[in-house]
Amino acid sequence: MDTSIFQTFHPSLQQLQEWKDSFGVFTTHPSLIVDDSIIQKTLRSLSERLTGNYPFHHPNYAGQMLKPPHPIAALAYSVTMGLNPNNHALDGGPPSSEMEKECVQALANLFGYNDTYMGHLSSSGTIANLEALWIARCLHPNKGIAYSNEAHYTHSRMAQVLDMEAHTFQLEDENSIAECLEALPVDSIGTLIVTMGTTGLGKVEPLSEILDWARPRSIRIHIDAAYGGFFKTISDYLPGPNVHWDRMQEADSIVIDPHKHGLQPYGCGCVLFKNPEVGVFYKHDSPYTYFSSEELHLGEISLECSRAGAAAASFWATLQCFPLEPNHGFGPILTACHMAAIKAYGYLDNSEILNPYIAPELDIVTYYVAKKNAPGSTSTISDRSKKIFHQGMNNNDPSQQYYISLYTVNSQDFSQRFPEILVDSNQVVLLRSVLMRPEQEHTIEKLLARIEEDAKALL
Ligand SMILES: *Cc1c(COP(=O)(O)O)cnc(C)c1O
Repeated sequence: MDTSIFQTFHPSLQQLQEWKDSFGVFTTHPSLIVDDSIIQKTLRSLSERLTGNYPFHHPNYAGQMLKPPHPIAALAYSVTMGLNPNNHALDGGPPSSEMEKECVQALANLFGYNDTYMGHLSSSGTIANLEALWIARCLHPNKGIAYSNEAHYTHSRMAQVLDMEAHTFQLEDENSIAECLEALPVDSIGTLIVTMGTTGLGKVEPLSEILDWARPRSIRIHIDAAYGGFFKTISDYLPGPNVHWDRMQEADSIVIDPHKHGLQPYGCGCVLFKNPEVGVFYKHDSPYTYFSSEELHLGEISLECSRAGAAAASFWATLQCFPLEPNHGFGPILTACHMAAIKAYGYLDNSEILNPYIAPELDIVTYYVAKKNAPGSTSTISDRSKKIFHQGMNNNDPSQQYYISLYTVNSQDFSQRFPEILVDSNQVVLLRSVLMRPEQEHTIEKLLARIEEDAKALL
């Protein structure tokens, strides 16, 4: 991140410095003093070691789901971290607890939950989902959960942690939702998980039909929108049916990760419950915590204890600069990311060598290398994907490098779409790009042209 922002905006932080000083000056204990030369040496060494990273900051990084936070988030985080408030209890950080409630309210409004919801930030999407599943178990102690085969692996893992039965279903385009779900043991499912924005392919699962199927069967709905949730700001402009996004407010719980598409540093997930009465399951009377007032403490409604108040301050500051609106703030960022994926799809569709796997719904594209007239087999496609993946990042000139990711699918699923390709392996490895940098709207075609060059050399 560009560190000049710290210098530029330093005067805006003067009040905080004056407030600190107003308590009286004191001398730092000698045990905490470090020689400047040691700090400099340490920072040089840190700087050198960090160059071992992939270039997450750059548009030529079109691989996994990660990118640096916005500078306003980094700045707000580090300023707040200097005080290190703990949002576990109000006394741990009254202002950052207030900011957390405002952020969570903004997310609840985005999804259409009315003012009586309950929710809070968490350290990750994993913990947020764990919490939602824990509440699912509290409400239906003798029932399990169900999720699609494309759900994040965290759900099967957390079902183990919580000792809940887990069932999977497969959503196939050619069958109705009822047909896809009919094999599920209805009586033993308490909560069904719908992923809005799957981590692998960026698919939005058909919430509306799933709600219609689940409600008459008294099955709760949890939405995992850890990655896809911010796309709600531009749902009117996305290719799929709007009704899935519009009905999010009917779900019993929702998870969204501000550290994925919310411009935040890691350490920021969020869980929301439609019914605040689930708060009773959180009741504890620990003698350790220091609940001093009658007002709601975030620690009373969260599974985790200590949590960074800085994460709330960072997200709060970001929302001041980037509101959750379609034409202002987050909307234009997500629109550019989505456009990057649409452009990529257009490019792949016209290419003689690169082929799209499925049409992108959000900002993830998946593709593979095969000549139209001599497509080859699943194992040759896998080999080509792996070669391109390594070749991109191994160019000696960093300005010529590119970074993409690999994605493995079942060969049976693959060959249903592409029957001309010979199946000679159980799985097939594809290329995948998460285009979560808005700059990629204008760079992705050039990047794909380079990948195409390298692919040509392989054939
Ligand atoms: C990323 C992700 C998770 C896990 O969240 P973390 O913040 O990485 O712990 C869960 N579900 C989905 C759909 C995700 O994309």
